[in-house]
Amino acid sequence: KSGFVTIVGRPNVGKSTFMNRVIGEKIAIMSDKPQTTRNKIQGVMTDKESQIIFIDTPGIHKPKHKLGDFMVNVAENTLNEVDAVLFMINAEEGYGRGDQFILERLKRVDQPIFLIINKIDQVHPDQLLPLIDQYKEKMEFEEIIPISALEGNNVNHLLDVLKKHL
Ligand code: GDP
Ligand code: MG
Repeated sequence: KSGFVTIVGRPNVGKSTFMNRVIGEKIAIMSDKPQTTRNKIQGVMTDKESQIIFIDTPGIHKPKHKLGDFMVNVAENTLNEVDAVLFMINAEEGYGRGDQFILERLKRVDQPIFLIINKIDQVHPDQLLPLIDQYKEKMEFEEIIPISALEGNNVNHLLDVLKKHL
């Protein structure tokens, strides 16, 4: 089984951290500063039964300048070329304008979209359910999976779910 998976989400939600964890190399550029990932970066994860090519994207956000415009286009163009889309959010933050902007674009995508709630190491488990309900209202997701990209919690489960969809 093999397929392409792209990771989208607001800047700093942990897309590159996730990439680095599953690929196991420092491919994506990580930084506390938003927009370090200037272009899409691919990494291949292989194991006995599957191969997943991950595409890390610049954060999709309302562009403030020409380069920003270009970066948003790069991210948007990948959406229709992949087998699955991971829409990553930060568990510490609620639904905001940035997510609204992304969801408007994701609604035009036919591919299965997974809501990945990252940084669960930073929140109390009780905070997750209200957050999930908030996003469920906005759009139907294939599955909703909470993880910690930094600490690795539930990342293997996410990979198993993805493999099933390839
Ligand atoms: P990106 O802009 O979406 O690619 O986000 P990055 O991967 O560059 O991560 C932004 C910041 O969040 C970095 O300081 C990461 O170390 C931190 N981060 C990423 N994932 C997690 C996580 O699961 N838990 C915590 N506590 N921090 C995280
Ligand atoms: Mg990044």
